[in-house]
This record gives sequence, structure tokens and C-alpha cells, in this order.
Amino acid sequence: MLDEIQKIGSEAEQKISAAKTTAEIEEIRVEYLGRRSQLTSLLRGIAELPDAEKAAAGKAANQVRAEIESLLSERETALADGEMAESIAGGGIDISLPGAPALPIGNLNLITLTRRRIEDLMVGLGYRVAEGPEIELDFYNFTALNHPEGHPARMVQDTFYVAPGSLARALDDEVLLRTHTSPVQVRAMESQSPPLFIVVPGKVYRRDSDATHSPMFHQVEGLAVAEGITLADLKGTLLELLRGLFGPDREIRMRPHFFPFTEPSVEFDVSCFACSEGVTEESQRCGLCKGIGWIEVGGAGMVDPEVFGFVESNGYDPERIQGFAFGMGIERIAMLKHGIGDLRRIFEGDVRLIGQFG
Ligand SMILES: [Zn+2]
Repeated sequence: MLDEIQKIGSEAEQKISAAKTTAEIEEIRVEYLGRRSQLTSLLRGIAELPDAEKAAAGKAANQVRAEIESLLSERETALADGEMAESIAGGGIDISLPGAPALPIGNLNLITLTRRRIEDLMVGLGYRVAEGPEIELDFYNFTALNHPEGHPARMVQDTFYVAPGSLARALDDEVLLRTHTSPVQVRAMESQSPPLFIVVPGKVYRRDSDATHSPMFHQVEGLAVAEGITLADLKGTLLELLRGLFGPDREIRMRPHFFPFTEPSVEFDVSCFACSEGVTEESQRCGLCKGIGWIEVGGAGMVDPEVFGFVESNGYDPERIQGFAFGMGIERIAMLKHGIGDLRRIFEGDVRLIGQFG
């Protein structure tokens, strides 16, 4: 019986090495290892052998079986690789092609598109994009931006605070979700001496929710610090930016306002792009500008010397350098530009809305 087993083994070995396709390999597998194969029936017959021969025959049969199995899978792998390469080379099938019909390609969300447009315009003016943490310390979000203790924005009705017990380690300062992108101003000035020209996009958080407010929204702001910067530079920069966003014929105006971290502070408007001159007669009143001819876009001002005081040791001597900062909501820009009435629709992920842009 041992001879017979050896014979089956060498026969199988020859056939395997002569096999040309994976289909042949499969046939050989059935022939030598299948339920009706010679080897299988030999194994069944071992039970009837005298005890003295059982062990040796069983061992030999199992060994040959294992050898055949390993030769089969080795040869199969080699043949399969060759067949795949041949099939691709012969143009048979390219598994990297999309199915038919091709699925429509998605597009970026309107917020991303608007953010990138603003970044592009500012980078074109020589600014670099800077980012900062969304979970922020009170120091950067309020204190270093000249918000006194008890400022309304610090109240829990307006700001999301992180419960102290939920932090991995105790901090001396209060931790909150940043309410504006402005904390990056101080962080950037800490890490870079003037001149500094940055544009800062990002998510911000406030306890507010209605058709024009969302608890999470996006802001972008610009900060320019160098010697001899004036309010005229601010106006020129805003004019360039808003013409890039709303069209080359736009004008801008600035109105006095108040922010804790700029002095003087302004709000800035862009001339209405839906009507030519903001016709004030009730019947012809423009819905976008309400007949005023101007649309409010954001806030700005000259950096308050108090703010420079927090980074004075890094070259920000308030007697020597000046700067301006401006900020606006990215959603607001997108809504104005595309006539979207409800801010929440931008976040709903409805492809009928998102698919219109990009
Ligand atoms: Zn108008």
C-alpha cells in the first residue's frame, strides 16, 4: 500500500507542474483529493489493515495528501497572477473602471466653496491661512481680546462652557467653545512677530438657533499688523475682498460701531447687488437691501492697543505698530450671494440644494 501511495503522490506532482490554467488545477484537485479519488478510498481502506501496518500507511497517506494540497495552492496562485495580468493586458477587464451607468460625482458644500473663495482672495493679497483650536481657553477668547469681566458675551446664555469635571486635567483657566475666530489673533501674534498678515477661517459656537443663527457656524477674519497700517488700508482690503465676492462694481461703506478688541470699530456694508441704487419707494423696494441700497456684511476696526499689550514682548509695541482686523460669517456671505433665506438649509445635506453649487 505504501508503494501505491507514493505512486499517487508522484503522479499528482507531475500533473500539477504541467497544469497550464487554474481550471486544470481545479480538475487535478478533484481527481486526487476529491471524495471519489484513489487517495480517499485508500485512506478509507486503512481501517481494515492489520494493526502493524495501520500507522505507517495512515502517516504516508496524510503526508502525500498534505504535499498535494500545498503544491496545488502554490501552482494555483502562480497561474492566477499570470491569468489576471494577461486578462488586463489583453483588455479583457479593467476592474478599476466605474460601473455603468457612471454614478454622478458629488460636490463640495456651499460653505467650503465660499470659505475657499475668501481664502483665495486673501491669499492673493499676500495673507496666509491660519487656524486655531475650536475648544479654547477663556484667556484667548475673551481676556486677551479686551473683554472685561462681566461682558455680556461671557454669560452662559451666549457661550458654551466646558464643564470643568469633564476635562482630563485641571486647568487654571475656563474652557469653552470659541465664540469667534478672533482668539487666533493672539495665538498668531504669540507665535510670529510683526509684520503679520493672516486670514482665519473656522467653526465657532454660540447658544443661538433660528432661521439666521445656528449654534455652530463659520467665520472668517483677517488680521494685518505692521508699522504704518491705517484705516484706509482696511477699507482698501475690504473693497478688494467684497468686489471679489460680489462683483467688480460694488462699493463699500463703514459705519461707527463698538467691539472690545478694536478701536475705532466699524461695521461694514457692501452696495446692494440686487437693485442698482436702493429705490426707496415702497412699491419698488428691494427685498435684499430693504430699499437702503447697502447690505451689512461684518465688523472690523483697528486693533486695540490693549490687545497688543498681551503680546508686546513678541515685537508688538503699541507705540510702534498698528493693525486692523475684520470678521464676517461665511454662511451670511453664502446666503447673500445665492439668495438662501434659511441658514439651517445649508446644514441639512439636501443634495437638491448642495448640488446647485460647485
Ligand atoms: Zn437692494
